[in-house]
Amino acid sequence: MYEAVGVIHLHSTFSDGTADIGEIMTAASQNHLDFVVLTDHDTLRALEFGYEGYHDRIMLLCGYEITPEKDHYLVLGTDKLINSDGGPQVFVTAVRYAGGLGFIAHPDHVGVPRFGVGCYNWTHWEVDGFTGIGIWDLMTDWQERVTGIWQGIKGVLNPLGHIRGPRTVTLKRWDEMNLKRRVVGIGEIDNHGKHHGFLFIRLTIFPYRFAMGTVHNHLLLEKPLSGDFKRDKRALLDALRLGRLYISMEAFGSAKGFRFWGELSDGKSLSMGDRVEFSEGVAFRIESPREAKIRLLCSGIVVKEAVGSRLEYEAGSPGVYRAEVYLPSESGKNRSLPWVFSNPIVLMEGQG
Ligand SMILES: [Zn+2]
Ligand SMILES: [Zn+2]
Repeated sequence: MYEAVGVIHLHSTFSDGTADIGEIMTAASQNHLDFVVLTDHDTLRALEFGYEGYHDRIMLLCGYEITPEKDHYLVLGTDKLINSDGGPQVFVTAVRYAGGLGFIAHPDHVGVPRFGVGCYNWTHWEVDGFTGIGIWDLMTDWQERVTGIWQGIKGVLNPLGHIRGPRTVTLKRWDEMNLKRRVVGIGEIDNHGKHHGFLFIRLTIFPYRFAMGTVHNHLLLEKPLSGDFKRDKRALLDALRLGRLYISMEAFGSAKGFRFWGELSDGKSLSMGDRVEFSEGVAFRIESPREAKIRLLCSGIVVKEAVGSRLEYEAGSPGVYRAEVYLPSESGKNRSLPWVFSNPIVLMEGQG
């Protein structure tokens, strides 16, 4: 198994970001990324200007973010630009017909009313046909704790101190949706590198180098990246479409090497993203590259927890199984650091 690590959802000077493609790829290389998925607002100009491809050893994939007032939608894997006319069901379906992948962006965004940052959550849950949703967004997570001036200052001085992990409401909805069909979870950074003036100081929230070292997507591939862009892009998109990935807060530690899989009694194995009918004797295994608190959840309920670098569990019932890993806090405070969130393996209820 090979791992391609990258960030999804950021903006460049082609829309309202402050970094150009060269600066973004420099920040990507400083963070040792394998790929970057650029999603400027309602434009594919980076693609049209020929920026998609390998930049040294890092792949740049150019997608876009459909940006109506609420209900933002990330699109990748198509060179067709679809707009927000007609509303969410229309554009979600149009992306599908164009052969693209679509992800609901920052679904439970709350904004920062205190500082005039709007709330750009997803409001149309009756819509179907999307590939997946963002389960962990750096900006949503960070902004949720910027409730006043003091919390704002703390959040700028120590952004990681505000990080609490994916929102409970998001995970709950995600688990429920996966009972019915595969809904892939991705991590987002939604970075713009915006400059703000505050007490005569110029602040950047966030510098690209910082943001690109936070929420990472680890895509599991059968073969290593070949260097052939077309082929490698297809491999990344396939892994994203199938949910063969886990998400980490890399600023808390490198999660590379984390694994979550299932073993069937006939010797076959199940990867993240797989869905099979429930049968007796499915063993789940989780391996963490560092000693940590490992949790296995079945449809939102913790069924086993272990401190160490591995966990094993024999599944006794159908459900949406996924892993979460938490690191102890360095400061010794009574808080563990949200580190790894896997995509699920689903054991479906039998028909009989
Ligand atoms: Zn957005
Ligand atoms: Zn955005």
